Amino acid sequence: MPLRRHGFDPRRRPAATVGTLLRELDPELARDLSDELDAAGERVLAGAVASLRVVEACHCDDPTCASFYAVDPFRAAWFWRHRGRTIVLAPGLSVDAAGDRIVCVEVHDRPTLKNALIMRFPADGEPGRR
Ligand SMILES: [Zn+2]
Repeated sequence: MPLRRHGFDPRRRPAATVGTLLRELDPELARDLSDELDAAGERVLAGAVASLRVVEACHCDDPTCASFYAVDPFRAAWFWRHRGRTIVLAPGLSVDAAGDRIVCVEVHDRPTLKNALIMRFPADGEPGRR
């Protein structure tokens, strides 16, 4: 089943939006996230950070928000309903996980990531995408 590696239906999702590795988008945050998860005793999740993908940015109104989805938002909601939990790591940094899967990372006051997200995932209505 070769298409499974894409994680999405390729007819619905252009390749450009399949996701970018967090460690390419914001290496510093990837390192922090992994360290914090490790310190919180979340070894499996800490290990998952290296391959964590930023699939969609949060488009809420909070200008300090740099949260992002690590899975398709639709699937995130499904995972969340079943086994969701929030792990608060630091002020402005928490991870929403379902089982051993990182579903969403809630980040605030992280301008580097915020700018990278805006470049990569313009909100609806902005020129460029969608
Ligand atoms: Zn947000």
